[in-house]
Amino acid sequence: MQEKGTISIHTENIFPIIKKFLYSDNEIFLRELVANAVDATQKIKRLSSLGEYKGDLGELKVSVSFDEKKKTITISDNGLGMTGEEIKKYINQIAFSGATEFVEKFKDAKDANEIIGKFGLGFYSAFMVADQVEIQTLSFQDGAEPARWICDGSTEFEISSGTRSTRGTDIILHVNKESKEFLNKAKLGEILDKYCKFLPVSVQFGTKSEQQADGVDEEGKPKYKSVEVDNIINNTSPIWTKSPSELKDEDYLAFYKELYPFSEDPLFWIHLNVDYPFNLTGVLYFPKVKNEFEIQRNKIKLFSRQVFITDEVKDVVPEFLMLLHGVIDSPDIPLNVSRSFLQADSAVKKINSYITKKVADKLASLFKNDRKSYEEKWSDIGLFVKYGMISEEKFYDKGKDFVLLTNTKNEYFTLDEYKEKVKSIQTDKDDALVYLYATDADKQDTFIQSANKKGYDVLLMNSPIDTHFISQLEQKLEKTSLKRVDADVADKIISKEDTTVHVLNDEEKGKVKSIFEKAIIKPNMRVEVESLNPDELPVIVTMDEFMRRMKDMSKMGGGM
Ligand code: ADP
Repeated sequence: MQEKGTISIHTENIFPIIKKFLYSDNEIFLRELVANAVDATQKIKRLSSLGEYKGDLGELKVSVSFDEKKKTITISDNGLGMTGEEIKKYINQIAFSGATEFVEKFKDAKDANEIIGKFGLGFYSAFMVADQVEIQTLSFQDGAEPARWICDGSTEFEISSGTRSTRGTDIILHVNKESKEFLNKAKLGEILDKYCKFLPVSVQFGTKSEQQADGVDEEGKPKYKSVEVDNIINNTSPIWTKSPSELKDEDYLAFYKELYPFSEDPLFWIHLNVDYPFNLTGVLYFPKVKNEFEIQRNKIKLFSRQVFITDEVKDVVPEFLMLLHGVIDSPDIPLNVSRSFLQADSAVKKINSYITKKVADKLASLFKNDRKSYEEKWSDIGLFVKYGMISEEKFYDKGKDFVLLTNTKNEYFTLDEYKEKVKSIQTDKDDALVYLYATDADKQDTFIQSANKKGYDVLLMNSPIDTHFISQLEQKLEKTSLKRVDADVADKIISKEDTTVHVLNDEEKGKVKSIFEKAIIKPNMRVEVESLNPDELPVIVTMDEFMRRMKDMSKMGGGM
């Protein structure tokens, strides 16, 4: 069998356009071809389970290899293979028509990733790095003949009988001059690690040496020998494909370490698992971060059926949850279309609100089930919650029940609890609530003390996000204003309790002074009783500056 043909497409010479267009992203050829190979193995598995294939499945596997001298990269699988007729249909017609449609529609598109799979361009991405692409394949079907297809990226192809003797397909890329960087172990290994690390079928890339037990020596100690074994680059069943009931905390933590080797343990995680009205699985982690400047965005990896697609999840995950880490896998996210389309896509909208709800539910249950530990983690969680409440209306409505306010005495309150706490004391002349807050407990200490003395509570709002959070609260909370404790407001709060201050006469001052002097037996201390107006400190104890320095110096020297 030998046949030459011309692929019937409307646009002549689409390849130069595709090549140029895809150039910047050309490493994805490997992802596309390996994903096709994985599909082929999964198809044969399905045919076998349906009884349509009676032969031995064998160990399903994909392997990637390269030959520096011959300048080839080969992707092999023991999937279902193709007959000559199928090559014509699937490769010539489907893939080529996809390419034509692609060029017509997306001449001006910018991101190759957005469109490549959509138009069946997967296979054709091979021409980004190859002058010539060859297929050697043998179909699983009874009596099938091995077939070979070769094409140089023009519309001319050649089909003939092939050499493959076992079921499956080899895709052989004759790598072009500009792409010789790919004929390199480290480079290919890196690309496989990026895109294929969690594919559901073993992907082999070369071999590695492993120590194996080899009996015992004369002294009875175990012996080892070094053997070459297949280097399997992927974990075929990552945790997000498993059911939460099978998993322990250690599994989630180990997976986190696998994804982000140098990070501290996460605070907690959420296992996503839904199959209606869209299909989505994944695990999202709350990372441990101290402040928003440290946070790294774009840490969520997006997969489609375990093939890595991107870590740009901007349009899939609500903006405030971009701070989370982890994995989302959904075949329903239309990955290959333009951004604006994605934002308007109804599946994406549903996914977005599903994730928001899941995160809110998790926080609500942590709060409800173990308030103490929630409070302990608050300095880490608070940022997410406040950021979420500020940026997403739907999340505000949920978050208002589990967002915590902290005061300068290190006590925690929900919004409702805080209102209860201060409503009888901190109101202004219009009967509106006044919440006082400090942004720096040390610097504003005098003001805090003075406010406390009047019976007012002072919140601590010292993180950068609090500026926004304060205005958010003012908008949302009815008849409530927030005032910094050192602003000229404390006086304007009309306390409903009697806080009239007793002003001391000279005799009383003298008594107080002597009480303090007796208590402070150290020499060189001076006691001053002030008690002038309620905002000031009533008693001040000072020390002679010279004596203080002497004392500090002697402390440093270890004496006295
Ligand atoms: P898509 O995978 O999106 O359908 P591709 O251009 O990647 O588009 O592939 C076109 C078709 O070629 C596939 O749908 C499949 O039928 C066939 N094909 C590609 N690679 C293989 C393979 N390794 N084994 C069997 N069939 C394959």
